[in-house]
Amino acid sequence: MKALVWHSPKDIRYDEVPDPKIEDPRDAIIRVSTCAICGSDLHLYDGYMPGMMNGDVVGHEFMGEVMEVGPGAKGALKVGDRIVVPFTIFCGECEQCKRGNYSVCERSNRNKNMASKLFGRTTAGLFGYTHLTGGYQGGQAEYVRVPFADKTHIKVPSTLTDEQVLFLGDIFPTGWQAVVQCDIQPTDTVAIWGAGPVGQMAVRSAILLGARQVICIDYVPERLSMAEAGGAIAINFKEESVLERIEELTAGRGPEKCIDAVGMEAHATATLDSMYDKVKQAVMLETERPHVLREMAYVCQGAGTLSIPGVYGGFADKFPIGMIMNKGLTIRTGQTHVNRWTDDLLRRIEEGQIDPSFVITHSVPLQQGPEMYKTFRDKHDGCIKVVMKP
Ligand code: NAD
Ligand code: ZN
Ligand code: ZN
Repeated sequence: MKALVWHSPKDIRYDEVPDPKIEDPRDAIIRVSTCAICGSDLHLYDGYMPGMMNGDVVGHEFMGEVMEVGPGAKGALKVGDRIVVPFTIFCGECEQCKRGNYSVCERSNRNKNMASKLFGRTTAGLFGYTHLTGGYQGGQAEYVRVPFADKTHIKVPSTLTDEQVLFLGDIFPTGWQAVVQCDIQPTDTVAIWGAGPVGQMAVRSAILLGARQVICIDYVPERLSMAEAGGAIAINFKEESVLERIEELTAGRGPEKCIDAVGMEAHATATLDSMYDKVKQAVMLETERPHVLREMAYVCQGAGTLSIPGVYGGFADKFPIGMIMNKGLTIRTGQTHVNRWTDDLLRRIEEGQIDPSFVITHSVPLQQGPEMYKTFRDKHDGCIKVVMKP
């Protein structure tokens, strides 16, 4: 089959690879109908995420048709079912899964030892996302093996298009979880850093969940316009001072809730700390560029919440624990517990409360994937979200 294969940083190719096979009774094989490139894939593309190997098939936002079902998944799935696959692989049976904490499933990561060494405890297996998360082949491919398939799926009705439901597998519940973790009150201002696909979903989720005012910060004009169309007030950090503008919009009090939808590759602003990160990350003395985290901690109201869906990989320097402790801020974060949210979100799509396909700017054959990684990373050609058809 054909798939997008990671060879080394900035080298992803459209290659011929072996077809996946059932390896465990709970597996299923799906034929991918549509897949997407996620902001998290950019961390692999740019080489900031450890644990990738030459030959890994990438991609973790995908959907398709069930072609083959192992005997252990037969009660839950049958050939011909149309499913979206959540990027977090989960067993549904361990202590964490029983609590709905699917992204820290204790059984789905087959390289548990590596993950526990780095993080103290294992995290869940993820598709196409480094050997630290199980080294599972990803979904930017014609076919995929889905482990624990009796649990790891979202069945979707034929009345909705692929484009309407695909993002249930990642960015929609990710934006949603980021906002739910803010425990929105009707009087809240929510400030969201990053108007990429996750930021866009967070803007819409914050409006749906009843925030009084939503602010979105980025520097890419078309991304900011899309956030405005969703109900946010935009701040362009290249044109105005984020701190001053937020003070103005919140009568000098700051937002009650702040969301980091940027992650480890924050662009340098004119501030000293972001230049410091840039240099330290370049010479590998720091794995992250946590400028957004510091800015959020600084502007956030006392007793506020910092919600962090943006991905970080290791250790951050100059983390402002004094600000966080003395202001009594709460930090909520995590890879998304996708299936915890998807019944509710699918219903909202069916009812027409939201159509997540608004975020798509590019729809191309899978073959064009390698060049689309670059277009998406560089925000060329108005690119906000790429979907691909194998
Ligand atoms: P993206 O890279 O397209 O979006 C990031 C946006 O942040 C860009 O528009 C960029 O211009 C903006 N940005 C950069 N520096 C900034 C700064 N200093 N201030 C404000 N904005 C800035 O990707 P995305 O798909 O939207 O993903 C965003 C983050 O969410 C990534 O780190 C990704 O890995 C992460 N993510 C996490 C989960 C999860 O489960 N927690 C799931 C999906 C994605
Ligand atoms: Zn993702
Ligand atoms: Zn589990």
